[in-house]
Amino acid sequence: MSLPFSPLHPSRNSRIAYFSMEIAVAPDMPTYSGGLGVLAGDTLRSAADAGLHLAAVTLVHRKGYFRQHLDANGVQSESEQPWKPEEKLIPEDPVVMINLEGRRVAVRAWRYDVQGITGHTISIYFLDSDLEQNDPRDRALTDRLYGGDGDYRLRQEALLGIGGVRLLHALGFRAAVYHMNEGHAALLTVALMQDQLRGAPLYTASEEDMAAVRQKCVFTTHTPVPAGHDRFSQEQSYRILGDEIASFLEQRGGVHDGLLNMTYVALTFSRFVNGVAMQHGKVSRSMFPEYEISAITNGVHALTWTSPAFQNIFDRHMPRWRQDNVTLRYAIDIPEEEIAAAHTQAKRVLMDGIAERTGVRLDPGIFTIGFARRAATYKRADLLFTDPERLARCAREQGAMQIIYSGKAHPADSPGKEKIRHVIELAHRLSNDSLRIVYLENYEWQLAAQLVSGVDVWLNTPKRPYEASGTSGMKAALNGVPSLSILDGWWIEGWIEGVTGWAIEDHEDESAEAGSIYDHLERVLLPLYYQQPQQWRRIMRSTIALNGSFFNTQRMLEQYVVNAYFPESVAQASAQVREPVLAG
Ligand SMILES: *Cc1c(COP(=O)(O)O)cnc(C)c1O
Repeated sequence: MSLPFSPLHPSRNSRIAYFSMEIAVAPDMPTYSGGLGVLAGDTLRSAADAGLHLAAVTLVHRKGYFRQHLDANGVQSESEQPWKPEEKLIPEDPVVMINLEGRRVAVRAWRYDVQGITGHTISIYFLDSDLEQNDPRDRALTDRLYGGDGDYRLRQEALLGIGGVRLLHALGFRAAVYHMNEGHAALLTVALMQDQLRGAPLYTASEEDMAAVRQKCVFTTHTPVPAGHDRFSQEQSYRILGDEIASFLEQRGGVHDGLLNMTYVALTFSRFVNGVAMQHGKVSRSMFPEYEISAITNGVHALTWTSPAFQNIFDRHMPRWRQDNVTLRYAIDIPEEEIAAAHTQAKRVLMDGIAERTGVRLDPGIFTIGFARRAATYKRADLLFTDPERLARCAREQGAMQIIYSGKAHPADSPGKEKIRHVIELAHRLSNDSLRIVYLENYEWQLAAQLVSGVDVWLNTPKRPYEASGTSGMKAALNGVPSLSILDGWWIEGWIEGVTGWAIEDHEDESAEAGSIYDHLERVLLPLYYQQPQQWRRIMRSTIALNGSFFNTQRMLEQYVVNAYFPESVAQASAQVREPVLAG
């Protein structure tokens, strides 16, 4: 990775602060809910690998997101995931204050150091308001990720953004770039403005002050539909943030359709904005035509999501792949039998894991489809069951199938919970000798790692254009698992028909889209899998070479460095290179 500065001599000009409401740091820390948190964690792991001078800020989430329980009828219930930050994190001394709803709230932090492959570490700071001097209401603010009502959420966002900047500064970490991973962190711009004004009231901010703050801010939006953007009423804004901040945000363009809109706050205060895939960039530009919005396609941390079996063969064939993910392109030269053997190993691990979790023994010799993600309705977990008869016939006539599902619905998402119930009901009804369907409880990191590597094809059926990027298919690709997916999000870029997977045809009508899935299974996937195993292995191999080498956070972060974080220093560095050449 070519960096525009030496990571060994970090200066203030090369420091980055990364803010995210959720970060998947380690499998045993329930500080994330899904794709956004995993992306943040993968980004930070790659930042450590690259030797970037970066610190990250999130909340400690003492009671986690939630553990999912499913009863025999597929009805979801939830329990807390309490964990002990004291046992995993290092306490930091500084305590900073923020004002919420007229109360003073003290905030401290815990540190976790992520070590990269070269030994470089970056620190993640977990903000914690569970301090004795705080009002009991405020002590609970860093308990639950995406829990509580709108008031709770706005207070958490103030804590993350305003508390986070103050805490970093109290630790002596002042950055050149503040990266907001989604709008949840948008209030960091307020703290940066307060810092810029050195204690003068916010209404005194000049255009130069605005420009100075903007110069520091980078914003990544992840939401392709207006309803998904984080919004609060003006009443909440004034009551919780106070008159000074609320009226500042109102005057500076943060209020849209009468609501405080965190996406607009972040857009207004950022010099660089991006969506998370090419298509999502386009969608975001049409949603916010008054702003310039780029696209940087997401990735996954290659080492984290490559199964041990594939790590071994990559180490043998591309010994520098951990340092340089681009060399995964040379997977094209790995003998097919080795790919097949590694996959068989990963498939066994998955099937053993399932037996352990559920008592159900699946057969590693049978074609296996995986579908696991948040049970948001737009992901359409039940699209595959649109015509259950046809699905059953397909398995009966073309070859047996196993289908593995997993995914949590947010506790307040009743339609999402209904999707889960529906899938489980159909799983019971349809399962027979040639078609077995299981739904695995409590989708999380380790289960995801087993699933993406252990199934034969990764199914993805979002409703367009709701999938901003999606990342689980990228994890599958690193393990030689092709995708069968609607052309949305990253798949528009990753799809080469019959080479990296297959596209489900786009139709207005859901049953026609489901029809395209059955067509593919009947005519292409099952015949290939059972009758042309060598051709199937070639597809596995090209999936790694083409998609594993690109859809990783090492490539992604390099794009952030060059385009978002330090575009000027890149320009300067190349100017410096050019001069002597001209002089010579
Ligand atoms: C990767 C991952 C996700 C995100 O998957 P999408 O394809 O983006 O929906 C969600 N949850 C877990 C546990 C993951 O590992």
